Amino acid sequence: LSIGFKTDNGQAVTVVEDLSLTAAEGETICIVGESGSGKSVASQSIMRLLGENAFIQQGEIRFKGDNLLNKSEKELRRIRGKDIAIIFQEPMAALNPVFTVGHQLREAIKLHSKRKGREAKEYAIDLLRRVGISRPESIMNGYPHTLSGGMKQRAVIAMAIASKPQLLIADEPTTALDVTVQAQILQLLKRLQEGSGTTIVLITHDLGVVAEMADKVVVMYAGQIVEQADAESLFDRPLHPYTQGLMHAMPSLQKAAGANDERLLSIPGTVPALNRLPQGCRFHTRCAYTQECCKQSTPPLAAAGENRLVRCWLAVPPTGIEQNATAGGN
Ligand code: SF4
Ligand code: MG
Repeated sequence: LSIGFKTDNGQAVTVVEDLSLTAAEGETICIVGESGSGKSVASQSIMRLLGENAFIQQGEIRFKGDNLLNKSEKELRRIRGKDIAIIFQEPMAALNPVFTVGHQLREAIKLHSKRKGREAKEYAIDLLRRVGISRPESIMNGYPHTLSGGMKQRAVIAMAIASKPQLLIADEPTTALDVTVQAQILQLLKRLQEGSGTTIVLITHDLGVVAEMADKVVVMYAGQIVEQADAESLFDRPLHPYTQGLMHAMPSLQKAAGANDERLLSIPGTVPALNRLPQGCRFHTRCAYTQECCKQSTPPLAAAGENRLVRCWLAVPPTGIEQNATAGGN
């Protein structure tokens, strides 16, 4: 899948390039990267929620065998919120401030099931209990602004799971929450998934969240996948220098290594603008292992062991070029 953006001067910039990934039933895939990596755009495209300036350049988005790109807006409306649900970083994006939580939850239930009236209300209360809200009756009559951030996100999750979606897309669902609440919400998502077999695509910039949740991990940088692996092998032995950098930037790992908070190691620099990408490897302006070949030619996303892909000349050397450095840095 490739996705382009039209810029103000009428040019097209590719924001997601040749993204390819598969999620199985009940699996959690984490897409991780800094802002500007294309991870949110990629996830929004699954629901065809791209903004006006964005367009699909090529590819397919298959859900249970059907290409979603061939669906009419009417067909998509049926799929959205029913088979595929999405939750965002900011719960107020999904909540309407002028209606009570109960009203909104009942509407979500009525939209996708035959439940009405009393039945819808009882189901709403049941859902609120399932997302860990202990006094659901009182929350039902409350307006969203009366709830804490964590409670709001729980209410949004209740709405999202009302139709038992087969795919749940969660874009930074815990980023706006404090650490304790963050952990609770992640646990909640896991528990709900165990009971339902829902597939989760989780977008995050935080490898701590990935470690907690992922079966499979896709690391994106400047619109491309740079590494893809199952979670265990990725944390065991990150191959791409960018993945290694993200790991060094994980506060928990640094504390475990005895670093203090002022000396958090992180990757110098920022993701390059997509209309001004450097030649060769897109990461070469920030990489600690840059060699001449990295500046000249773009590394392919290549197999690096079983179920592993990596886009780096160190892991998959260009033929005919001597390699001195090794992909270390752990
Ligand atoms: Fe670094 Fe070169 Fe690998 Fe790019 S290809 S990540 S610059 S070593
Ligand atoms: Mg984002």
